[in-house]
Amino acid sequence: MSFHSFGRRIDYLRLSVTDRCNERCLYCRPHQYAGWNGAADPLTDTELLRIVQVAASLGFRKFRLTGGEPLLRPGLVDLVHTLAATPGVECIGISTNGLKLPALAAPLRQAGARTVNVSLDALSPAVYRRITGGPLEPVLEGIRAALTAGFEFVKLNTVLMRGVNEDEIWPLIRFSSEQGVPLRLIELMPLTSRDVLTPANFLAIGEVIRWLRQREELVALPDARLGHGPAKYYRLVTSGAIVGFIGAMTNQHFCDTCNKMRLTADGRLRPCLGHHDEVSLRDALADTSSDEPLREVFRLALANKPWEHTFRDQYRPCRPMTAIGG
Ligand code: SAM
Repeated sequence: MSFHSFGRRIDYLRLSVTDRCNERCLYCRPHQYAGWNGAADPLTDTELLRIVQVAASLGFRKFRLTGGEPLLRPGLVDLVHTLAATPGVECIGISTNGLKLPALAAPLRQAGARTVNVSLDALSPAVYRRITGGPLEPVLEGIRAALTAGFEFVKLNTVLMRGVNEDEIWPLIRFSSEQGVPLRLIELMPLTSRDVLTPANFLAIGEVIRWLRQREELVALPDARLGHGPAKYYRLVTSGAIVGFIGAMTNQHFCDTCNKMRLTADGRLRPCLGHHDEVSLRDALADTSSDEPLREVFRLALANKPWEHTFRDQYRPCRPMTAIGG
């Protein structure tokens, strides 16, 4: 069986395996952010495995471990190993800030993770630190380690902030093409403290595309499904770079092909990133005699999945991205 919502097949579950993070990104949970103190009671490995088994029995095939920073979760490699061997699971991917990848890339790949997305918001160490609060060099080493470890896909993610990292876009494109990996440029979404969400900080992908077109020919790759996400990909003819654009705020068709749900670190299914509806799995998890209550919560969450996000409708941030699962 598989789930459908408004004609879209929903077969991708992003699991937040921790809401802890070792960075404090401006656009996510900056230092001054006081609205989220962490889940009191994170899901155990046994609970996560049971959720993935139930999801796979309902037709979910692709899973991404995220957070917070998933590489901070103790025992992550063993968890990946168990999840990757679960019947029905076709792909385990990981989203990370890369700080701990130098040591963990090879073990995660060996455990069965197939893809890794690394956040990289700048190549200037000073700008990188200004955005994330952390050092750049271990992230670059982590990207090299991921490439050596032989993941099927390594992708780089950059959140765009006008006046903060727009001068980094071109160096990031050059870097991604040198490394032979796609770069995805992501519009700032209202998932952080409200003082960051100003029109002055927002940089629309349309503007970036126009700017890039003045320097290079861009060829749309309409059928490129480099992974399972919502990016629209282009090839830059001269540099050969592959750049994906994730325009949740300005692309009116952003939700047309949405295939995902999210599990928060505190055990709630969230059918849409840009919609506050969530439904808790806790009571269903407490019933260890049957998985049927868990299945019922999945069905309910799916029935609640809206046609599109509400980010453009004066959405008020409640949890930062790190507390939902990126
Ligand atoms: N720590 C991991 C990482 O850095 O990739 C995984 C979690 S992080 C929350 C996942 C993704 O969410 C990152 O690519 C991050 O850049 C993105 N993100 C966080 N807050 C965002 C926001 N307000 N708007 C757009 N993207 C955001």
